[in-house]
Parts: sequence; C-alpha cells; structure tokens
Amino acid sequence: SAGIPGIQERTLVAVKPDGVQRRLVGDVIKRFERRGFKLVGMKLLQANEGLLAEHYHELRRKPFYPALIHYMTSGPVVAMVWEGYNVVRTSRAMVGDTNSTEAKPGTIRGDFSIHVSRNVVHASDSVETAQREISLWFHSNELVEWDCCDYSNTY
Ligand code: ADP
Ligand code: MG
Repeated sequence: SAGIPGIQERTLVAVKPDGVQRRLVGDVIKRFERRGFKLVGMKLLQANEGLLAEHYHELRRKPFYPALIHYMTSGPVVAMVWEGYNVVRTSRAMVGDTNSTEAKPGTIRGDFSIHVSRNVVHASDSVETAQREISLWFHSNELVEWDCCDYSNTY
C-alpha cells in the first residue's frame, strides 16, 4: 500500500459547537471510521477568536462573518485530523453542501442540519487548505502515526 499515491493525505474535520451540543460527535466519528479513514489527531477545545480569525480568514469580509465567529465560539469544538486515500475530497462529499438546504440526504449536513448557519461540521476544502488548517489547530506532537492491521478497509 505504500506505493499508492495520496494515501498519506490528511484533512481537518471539526464538529462545530451545535454538533457537540446535539451529541453528534460519535456519529461524525463513526462515519469516518467505517468509511475507512484513520484518526491521527483529536481534541475538544473552546476555540478563541484569534484561532477562528485565522481559520476563516478568507471569509472576513462576508456579511455573515460576525455571526459565524459568534457561532463558532458558542461552545466547544471537536477538532480531528483524518488520514487516508483522497481524504480531502471524500470528506467534503461526506459532509455535504455548505448550504444545508442543498445538502443531500446521506451526507452529514443533509442528515443533521437544516440551515447554513448551524451546519454541524467543518472539513478542509483542498489539500493546501488542509495543511494550513492542520498546522493551525494542532501541534505536530499532537498527531500520531500508527499502522493498520491487515483487516482494515483503508490503505
Ligand atoms: P464550508 O464550511 O462548506 O467550507 P464556507 O467555507 O463557504 O463553507 O463557509 C464556512 C462556514 O461559514 C460555513 O460552514 C457556515 O458555517 C458559515 N457560512 C457560510 N455561508 C453562510 C451564510 N450565508 N450564512 C451564515 N453562515 C454561513
Ligand atoms: Mg470552507
């Protein structure tokens, strides 16, 4: 499996405050585990405004930005790093459309969210974004490398 391109790809997934408050953390983890991805980092934290300002830097001029920061600081977030083949794109598909109204049933947002302002989960939108976000949310010593057994669904 070491020769398969893209297997070491990593992405940042976060259960947002509404997801934590609604006890959806286990549900989100379960979907990534059974799909076959490998959990290499995880923590629950109260995100501060500085972290979120960097995380959502590209959205700073959007009209919904103040509400977004308020929402994201309204309670703890569970930040995770998932690894595996094509994990960035596949995670986005699993999370579903940003706008919950458009999110397909079977996706996390399509199953658990009715509005864009409370959409339960974050996932990085590109490999480059993922690298930036992972280093923003995690110290390198918080990420753990480990090997899969032969019975795993993952590479
Ligand atoms: P995604 O989370 O799917 O990558 P964006 O990066 O475009 O979506 O936006 C980041 C987050 O900002 C969204 O997940 C959502 O929480 C919030 N958001 C985006 N658009 C709106 C909107 N029109 N109204 C309220 N909140 C929004
Ligand atoms: Mg985004």
